[in-house]
Amino acid sequence: MKWHEILIRYGEITTKGKNRKLFINRLKENLRYTFADIPNMRIRSERDRMYLSSEVDTEMEEILNRLPHIFGIHSFSPVAECEPTVEAMKELAVEIVQGLDYEGKTFKVNAKRSFKNFPLDTYELQQTIGSHVLGTLPGMTVQMKKPDIELRVEVREKAVYMMVDVISGAGGLPIGSNGKALLLLSGGIDSPVAAYYMMKRGVRIEAIHFFSPPFTSDQSLTKVKELCDKISRFGGNIRLHIIPFTETQQTIQNSVPENVTMTSTRRMMMKIADEVRKEIDAKALVTGENLGQVASQTLESLAAINDVTTTPILRPLITFDKLEIIDVAQKIGTYDISIRPYEDCCTVFTPANPKTKPRVEKMNYYESFTDFEEMIQRAVKNREIHSFPKTKSDDFSDLL
Ligand code: ATP
Ligand code: MG
Repeated sequence: MKWHEILIRYGEITTKGKNRKLFINRLKENLRYTFADIPNMRIRSERDRMYLSSEVDTEMEEILNRLPHIFGIHSFSPVAECEPTVEAMKELAVEIVQGLDYEGKTFKVNAKRSFKNFPLDTYELQQTIGSHVLGTLPGMTVQMKKPDIELRVEVREKAVYMMVDVISGAGGLPIGSNGKALLLLSGGIDSPVAAYYMMKRGVRIEAIHFFSPPFTSDQSLTKVKELCDKISRFGGNIRLHIIPFTETQQTIQNSVPENVTMTSTRRMMMKIADEVRKEIDAKALVTGENLGQVASQTLESLAAINDVTTTPILRPLITFDKLEIIDVAQKIGTYDISIRPYEDCCTVFTPANPKTKPRVEKMNYYESFTDFEEMIQRAVKNREIHSFPKTKSDDFSDLL
């Protein structure tokens, strides 16, 4: 099937009144970015619709494959084009329906004439095209109300456009239309899913990862980079900040009681993340934390972690069941990367009996004997920054 263009319906943006233009421009920009490797793609936007096209068939296919992942799109339909003659219309209508699973389905033609001088009126057009399709492709019955297959035909002066599929988009808001947040990204299952939900609400994400060589390996870094590359496919570029964390972790081991090392580690992560957040002008921190999933994820523990900053810490997965999270991770394609074995800087140093209900005052007291501030600044300064998605022209060697 040769498609002429893809019609995009905006969805939730349409409710945004004055901001509409900003939302549409943001979506346009995100599409340009996501499809930067598709050189012939053209974008045209109208108040209620956007149209994508490319003269190269394989490019159109690639756009159709990737479009369901882009936030801010309610649905989309590939549109075919033919000459404004009855013969050409009949032929194209059959070609389109033939490509569908049509047997036993209900069917109707819905015609619209913008070119009022066309020799057939709307009713005659519907009759002519409909009976031709039914005669050529047996096994369908006509149904006016909510048919399985509705072939929409629009007759203009220079061309006729037809479409049949309404494909669901990812919904949500275009990434970047709701500001920016910094995500604490481990190599686990949860944090990439947290990223997905934030991005769906239009939040641009930068990611921060804590890395403790030689206790954590290069493979665990590769995983995190691959996860960033994967989640950047939802229509937003992502920068990854890799923080050298070994010194801080070792200092924690030597300065606070063993059963609260985990809590202290989380607190230091938050402090470092908050410094990076300030530098990049993000407005919130995001984690994949979840209540009760592991012994340390208690309300007391969250309170002790929150105490180090007044920055909002968003936890989109806080109430999810693990199985629900796994289900989403599989759908967004991060699960297979996340389950590869790796050492996280937290698991390497996990104490035998972590305190499940740490007290804020005690944490402050234990940490007061050590000058963590200088260490935090050093870790922030010595971070490495990578950008995703990796395009074809980028060097892939550091991903492999
Ligand atoms: P995940 O599957 O995301 O690793 P988890 O259920 O394993 O989550 P934890 O390991 O306790 O839970 O981590 C809780 C959150 O802390 C993670 O979701 C992530 O946001 C953050 N985090 C943990 N380890 C790291 C790390 N090495 N770098 C950055 N963030 C981390
Ligand atoms: Mg983890």
